[in-house]
Amino acid sequence: MYLDAAMIESKTLAWGGVVAVRGLSHPISVARKIMEEKPRLLASEGAERFARDHGFQMCKPTDLIDYEQRQHFEKQEAVIDRPATVGCVALDANGILVAGTSTGGVANQPPGRVGDSALVGCGLYADGQLGACSTTGDGESIIPVVLAKTAVDLLSGDRHPDEAAQMASEIFKQKVTGEAGCILLDPQGRVGWAHNSQGMAVAYITSAMDKPAVFTRKESELYSQKDLLVSRSN
Ligand code: ASP
Repeated sequence: MYLDAAMIESKTLAWGGVVAVRGLSHPISVARKIMEEKPRLLASEGAERFARDHGFQMCKPTDLIDYEQRQHFEKQEAVIDRPATVGCVALDANGILVAGTSTGGVANQPPGRVGDSALVGCGLYADGQLGACSTTGDGESIIPVVLAKTAVDLLSGDRHPDEAAQMASEIFKQKVTGEAGCILLDPQGRVGWAHNSQGMAVAYITSAMDKPAVFTRKESELYSQKDLLVSRSN
């Protein structure tokens, strides 16, 4: 499996990314390290050499498969290619926003394919005035829409991240075909997300919450908010 990962922070717009890498246990940690260096986007062997030289943990490609895939592997059956994407946005006590995205790409992608996830503006973006975004979905469609930057720009005028995420999703649907989702966070710590795929697993926590909220589809969050309103009015 080939991996892409990148990270960006809002204060200095420092960013770093690795693309089409194999054998790295935590490509996002390597991307974090690259934020302090130049060049800031390293591919394949160059990224792997950088990781080795900086003491990052290397692994066998088979270490990155899940339990079910491992069972097939151990029985010498064909392993189903089921890559996953993890995106994250965070705001610290100093008001610095960070976005990070890490992916195994899309199913059965050919060697050398690079998606949106490690491309600043597409798979991730952060702006100190507006907010931070991480995206997931069909990279070939996310890239021309510059989805993460589009979503962050929609936060201007104090628009709520949920509304901005929904608007970004509408723009995506109007302009291209395919599936995409995004998570957004603004400098006030307000959270928003939207997706046009059937589901998208999301978890978030703010300083006002004592445990994380966890959902697999936007509709489940909307239902739970409705339930909360009903129980409060009773
Ligand atoms: N956006 C990723 C890519 O195209 C895949 C995903 O998020 O599911 O590589």
